[in-house]
Amino acid sequence: MSRIYIAYTGGTIGMKLTDHGWAPAPGFLAEQMAAMSELCHPSMPEYVIDEFDVLLDSSNMIPADWARIASSIAANYDGYDGFVVIHGTDTMAYTASALAFLLEGLDKPVIVTGSQIPLCEVRNDGRSNIVTSLLVAATQPIPEVTLCFGDRLLRGCRSVKVSATGFDAFDSPNHPPLGKVGVDIEIAWPLVRKPSPGGLKLHGIGHPVVGALRLFPGITAELARNVLQPPIQGLVLEAYGVGNAPERNPGFIAAIRDAIERGVVIVDCTQCLRGSVDLGDYATGSVLARAGVISGFDMTAEAALTKLVHLFSRGLSPDEVKSQMQLDLRGELTR
Ligand code: ASP
Repeated sequence: MSRIYIAYTGGTIGMKLTDHGWAPAPGFLAEQMAAMSELCHPSMPEYVIDEFDVLLDSSNMIPADWARIASSIAANYDGYDGFVVIHGTDTMAYTASALAFLLEGLDKPVIVTGSQIPLCEVRNDGRSNIVTSLLVAATQPIPEVTLCFGDRLLRGCRSVKVSATGFDAFDSPNHPPLGKVGVDIEIAWPLVRKPSPGGLKLHGIGHPVVGALRLFPGITAELARNVLQPPIQGLVLEAYGVGNAPERNPGFIAAIRDAIERGVVIVDCTQCLRGSVDLGDYATGSVLARAGVISGFDMTAEAALTKLVHLFSRGLSPDEVKSQMQLDLRGELTR
């Protein structure tokens, strides 16, 4: 029988209603799961729940929490066949992306899941998300960090939250799902990455200073200069369309150029859900390329931000970060 390690970090799935709204409650998820008869079915794996000592609404997560989840998986890696991370949906795509970078060389499945409605409600999506995640972790040896939600299994570092209320809350718009959950669970094996031979390598997280800036019509040079002030090291610029920005605002472009000259790494991603950045397409994009902005290709903003955190945490120089940002490390970008 397979053994699954569950890292329970918080999220709606295990929440209770308090005077201030829904909030995580210690022991409550384990209690609910113990009462789920389907988890005792002979086809289900054995599992242990490692409840984190502070359960979080994922809106409270910080990069140190990603490191904590990754190190708990690494510490239990040899004792289990698969890993399920129970997490809030709000920042689940960031955590799934970060885990993909922090857990290099996986040869066992790591599945991140949660729900839109708590398990304690009569109608909820948590039951099926937990059952499916445990079954997939036990029976499908996918050597990747994936996100299991509703009827899909997505590559973690391609995922985005696309619905605040629907049961199909996540999508990976620039990559087909790795699995479809219907009458059968169908895995698209040709899309799944091969396990790397070197074994698991856990990466830590330091204290890099990175950020994200979403362009909007009328953005000022002053705002860009403020965001790009030292000690910032890296910025995800969420630009328009194929990566365009207001070239007729010379002050804005100068703010970008000055920051790059100081060593700040600026990665251009698109605000669009689908498609890739191409800084050679328009004058409004090539102006950024000439200033030294690098392309994020079809990476999600979540993947780009967590990748910057990961690469700067490895102590790489700005030039090394720039070159690694443009490489496909975990299936996060298409080139
Ligand atoms: N605010 C919750 C969280 O991210 C939402 C959820 O889990 O669905 O923890």
